[in-house]
Amino acid sequence: MRTKAYEPYLAGCRFCPMCKPASDSLNATLLESHATRAHAMIIWRAMNAETGYTAKQAELLYKCNLDGVAEAFCVDHYPTRAFMLAAREDIVEAGAEPEAVKAVLNREALFACEPGDMILFAEGSDLGFDGALAKGKEIAKKIGSGVLTGTNGYAPYVLGGRKKAAQEAKTFVEQLKKAGAKTLVTTGPESHYAFTKLYSELGVELSVKVVTLTELLFAGKGAKGVEGKKVFFHDARAACGLGDTMPEEKVIMPDFFGPEKALGTGVVYESPREVLKKGGAEFTFLVWLRAMANAMGNDEALALTYPALAKKMAARRLGMIAQTGAEIVVTDSLATELYVETLDQSLLQGLSVRYLGDLA
Ligand code: SF4
Repeated sequence: MRTKAYEPYLAGCRFCPMCKPASDSLNATLLESHATRAHAMIIWRAMNAETGYTAKQAELLYKCNLDGVAEAFCVDHYPTRAFMLAAREDIVEAGAEPEAVKAVLNREALFACEPGDMILFAEGSDLGFDGALAKGKEIAKKIGSGVLTGTNGYAPYVLGGRKKAAQEAKTFVEQLKKAGAKTLVTTGPESHYAFTKLYSELGVELSVKVVTLTELLFAGKGAKGVEGKKVFFHDARAACGLGDTMPEEKVIMPDFFGPEKALGTGVVYESPREVLKKGGAEFTFLVWLRAMANAMGNDEALALTYPALAKKMAARRLGMIAQTGAEIVVTDSLATELYVETLDQSLLQGLSVRYLGDLA
């Protein structure tokens, strides 16, 4: 089993309650079986009793994201994302994944494309969010690029379907070649992670330059419409995989109110904040940001597999942000903005959620 490589970490996690305040799924459901500790216990048993996973255990390892906030919160940064992913890969190999996951792993490749030297990938289309193509076209017009929407391998990857992820990635690269792209523009950390890190891990060559929409649109300019406004910047969970450092030990103390950089450093966090700062935004603070940002529900394909749980996470995240006194939530994840548009607007509690790419 792939989880054997993480045995020393799983041995510790199964008896440790420390990261409960950080768990996205536990705090959305208030069920102990959704804690990182419970996940570790399930994996440990399946691995050491060599019984494999029951249907209920497999479901519990999917009714969550990859527990990345726990990893960031943990003073030793135990690799929860890696052991959750390894467990999911073992489950998929055994054919024991829940139906909702099977549906993603058996999906057809789907693409829509307007060709060009430079192609913008509209994030969220991989998750089937309505409006991704229209939104992608709108942004593409601003930067004079073509646009591509469709399946790119990230969702099957986080669900443990490595083979399917590689297939989708290969097909995506073929589509990109057909479109004549030399530069690929990403519209959020999730797709940026996929194209800059995941594809090489999957052995899929992507021979185009990859740039973020933020660097292309702003290039030293500030965001519009945020001057003097109280802004909360929401980091997508995937940003954690692109950052340079994980949170420092002191951030878990109750009296920690900054500096924010102690919650993680890297261009992925600094670049959008600089754009907002230049635009005159006043930031509100919450300890759950940067590498410790709680999920908005759409992260790591949860909105596809368990949409009701994803909504609970979104409600919790938005509620916590509203309590910071923010007027506007800005995100550099197009998938997040498109997902929030699908929610009951009462969950927003008066907040306006904006995509950074719309503030140029
Ligand atoms: S990730 Fe860290 S804090 Fe969380 S259960 Fe494991 S050892 Fe404990």
